[in-house]
Amino acid sequence: MEIKKNYINGQWQAAHSGKTRDVINPANGEVIGKVTDSSAEDTRQAIAAAKAAFYDKGDWRRMSGPNRADMLYRIADAIKARVEELALLDCLDNGKPLREARADIEDAAACFRYYAGLIGKPQGGVYEVPDGFGPMHAYSMHEPVGVCGLITPWNYPMLMATWKLAPALAAGNCVVFKPSELTPLSSVALFEIFHEIGLPAGTANLVLGTGPDAGQTLADSHDVDMITFTGSTRTGQIIASAAVGNLKRVGLELGGKSPNIIFADADFEGAVEWAMIGVFFNQGQVCSAGSRILIEESLKDRFVARLAERANAMTIGKGLDDPDIGPIVSAGQLDKILGHIELAKQQGARLVCGGERYTEGNCAKGYFIRPTIFDNCTSDMAITSEEVFGPVVAVQTFRTEEEAIRMANDTPYGLAGGVFTNDGARALRVMKELRAGVTWINCYNPTFNEAPWGGYKMSGYGRDLGVNGLLEYQQVKQVSINLQPGPVGWYTR
Ligand code: NDP
Repeated sequence: MEIKKNYINGQWQAAHSGKTRDVINPANGEVIGKVTDSSAEDTRQAIAAAKAAFYDKGDWRRMSGPNRADMLYRIADAIKARVEELALLDCLDNGKPLREARADIEDAAACFRYYAGLIGKPQGGVYEVPDGFGPMHAYSMHEPVGVCGLITPWNYPMLMATWKLAPALAAGNCVVFKPSELTPLSSVALFEIFHEIGLPAGTANLVLGTGPDAGQTLADSHDVDMITFTGSTRTGQIIASAAVGNLKRVGLELGGKSPNIIFADADFEGAVEWAMIGVFFNQGQVCSAGSRILIEESLKDRFVARLAERANAMTIGKGLDDPDIGPIVSAGQLDKILGHIELAKQQGARLVCGGERYTEGNCAKGYFIRPTIFDNCTSDMAITSEEVFGPVVAVQTFRTEEEAIRMANDTPYGLAGGVFTNDGARALRVMKELRAGVTWINCYNPTFNEAPWGGYKMSGYGRDLGVNGLLEYQQVKQVSINLQPGPVGWYTR
């Protein structure tokens, strides 16, 4: 089996230690790949390559905007040309249904295209300034931050890579990218594309390794000017404190326990369908998952019965068979989810459906779990406060709009939230009060390359996607020009 390598300074190279890691197919536990296992030393080499490319060579940051855009368009085209190959990698590696993996890859191509388009748009400003020093003129310009460390999780391997790589490269930075050790294969394929289209050596470097080794080295390094991370809140805290050393810029897209608020006047079948998408899509391994359903008391029994009927009808199977629900990404994550389920039962939540591992048919060796609904949940239970990151939803009831808002915000997280109602004014009132960065009215989870994405509170700071996503990777420089060179008379007054 070919061992996938790091990509450093335009070359494929194995980790210095010679160690490798197996990549596992979560649908059956089989080894589907081998990757090099990088240490701090390998990561430091990648950082040095990015630093030399940015500060010494400077060919990427100095490249004209249209030429950089052209490179990004070519990356997008190459991704489009390989949709099936890349989708298969994410499907086998992460476990997700093939059609969803395909949609991720299409979206990744669109993301590169979007940021290619943004490069040419006007940036910066021209300012009217006082003439106390003589006639002056000031303008601002946007510049890349420098060397960026990018760290991503396993739930959307290609898409999370793209959400960070596309804007970071568009802005002219040089990067060191560390994907999750669980799902590295599509990242390797993406860097093969970078190599083929001729991205200047050192511009984008790939390090395959674990968080505590490769990831932590990026966060600690004083040669890294910025670090952006998507993953758990705990790791986000570790990264933020490591970043203090050289005050590097930090972007954190962390976890959530997002409320999906459903009023009794909402379109019933629509709310059920979106609630399903909200919590069961991608096996519930979504940072924005609507994992707390807050429902108006009068509608609760009917809603939960219908939700359970729909959940029980979901097909479960390996991603290649395109089921509704594929396997959980790893045995470790499966155990974590089962632990959350046991605790919820012990703490008195009522298990409506699911709640166990699924081992039927050819799923016996995979990490499958039935979609799970808990009813009669209260705010003192772990199931309403801790991120499960699996197909598990906790249902709570409310009686008034004020109570719904209070319950929705009663969490240390603030990533996302939804509201379902046919009363437009109420929808807008609730939205205004929600302390969350990504919100939906009468839908849940649609995401757009064009619109900013990120959290409030302990769900992190900074934004991926949209114009804000590009600004994250840019410095703003002020330039003031003396329009009348010569003595200003300051010392002779
Ligand atoms: P982590 O936050 O541990 O991992 C995410 C990424 O960070 C991975 O690439 C990981 O490396 C890396 N990492 C881990 N430790 C460090 C470190 N000290 N310094 C730098 N990088 C590090 O998430 P897990 O994969 O362990 O998942 C655990 C929980 O995180 C989930 O149950 C879920 O609650 C949450 N999560 C949230 C996501 C989101 O989108 N908000 C996405 C994924 C998980 P590696 O894993 O390769 O060792």
